[in-house]
Amino acid sequence: MSRPENITSFKALQLWRAIPQQYRDKLVRNVFCGNCGGAVEIVDYSIREEKFALLLTGKCRTCGKPVARVVENE
Ligand SMILES: [Zn+2]
Repeated sequence: MSRPENITSFKALQLWRAIPQQYRDKLVRNVFCGNCGGAVEIVDYSIREEKFALLLTGKCRTCGKPVARVVENE
């Protein structure tokens, strides 16, 4: 059951791109970082398709620690 991490699948990318740009920008700039203790921007992120959501995994722009954000399909 090993799936490669940090690889954006074509399907996940399609789903991500189907989200309006304005909303995507908002999501990317509003990711919780436990290290910074607040909302930060995610950088160097990849997108994965989960069962009912997309999962963004990347790094905090402020401190560089790993952060993740779930984007529920609506
Ligand atoms: Zn941080």
